[in-house]
Amino acid sequence: MQITKGEELYRGKAKTVFHTNDATKLILEFRNDTSAFDGEKIEKLERKGEVNNKFNHFIMQQLENAGIKTQVESMLTDTQSVVKKLSMIPLECVVRNFAAGSLCRRLGIEEGIALNPTTFEFFLKNDALHDPMVNESHALAFDWATQAQIDRMKAITFDVNEVLTPLFRKGNMLLVDYKLEFGVSHDGEIVLGDEFTPDGCRLWDADTKKKLDKDRFRQGLGSVVESYIEIADRIGLSI
Ligand code: ADP
Ligand code: UDP
Repeated sequence: MQITKGEELYRGKAKTVFHTNDATKLILEFRNDTSAFDGEKIEKLERKGEVNNKFNHFIMQQLENAGIKTQVESMLTDTQSVVKKLSMIPLECVVRNFAAGSLCRRLGIEEGIALNPTTFEFFLKNDALHDPMVNESHALAFDWATQAQIDRMKAITFDVNEVLTPLFRKGNMLLVDYKLEFGVSHDGEIVLGDEFTPDGCRLWDADTKKKLDKDRFRQGLGSVVESYIEIADRIGLSI
């Protein structure tokens, strides 16, 4: 069936979600809007929507090829993708291979320390509360997810690390950390949703430790989209 765009369902900080003529599918539109610090810093970055749409599609395909269930269906336009409609679980799943960002701020840890074992954290998706860190018992007590869903999300989040760490390493990059969001499909399965782009992960050059991800925007380092395109190039994706 030819997928056509329906009404807008939700406009987030960086993407807009549309209904389609198929009740089990949505269209994700990646906009140029870039936000940080819970929407305090917002800018439009030329071509970012296109770069992130293509990047996300490529990564989700790699994950599918490795047997991980994702939302991916097809790319519709340069900035829009057709995805499975999911009932999103309001938890962000964060895996860290090296210390950075909020972990360093929270615990006074030096940036760049290799983490053994790799750590896992849940954050509640709630801008008004600044996405607080929560644990499994909170998720169960407040019915954000069942134990089975929690176990599945954790397992898949670590599986993603096994696929993506070597993929980025081949491009001489370190996958420092990343955030994933999951949802439940119409047949009750836990499926990887939202996006995997340089907006939601940290990637450093393995030799120089140069930051190639959204920290360039957060920290005002410049050349944000150019750097995202360089990441893509290094993993064999020409945008
Ligand atoms: P935010 O909501 O944090 O501002 P975005 O601008 O990225 O983030 O908006 C995209 C929204 O779409 C998010 O709320 C995300 O949870 C939701 N979403 C992502 N993928 C899917 C999907 N496959 N099905 C349903 N909703 C999704
Ligand atoms: N992240 C994200 N969205 C969020 C919070 C974090 O995509 O709302 C990503 C972030 O880009 C990084 C990882 O999750 O790759 C861990 O982020 P951290 O907890 O260090 O928070 P930050 O320093 O980004 O505030």
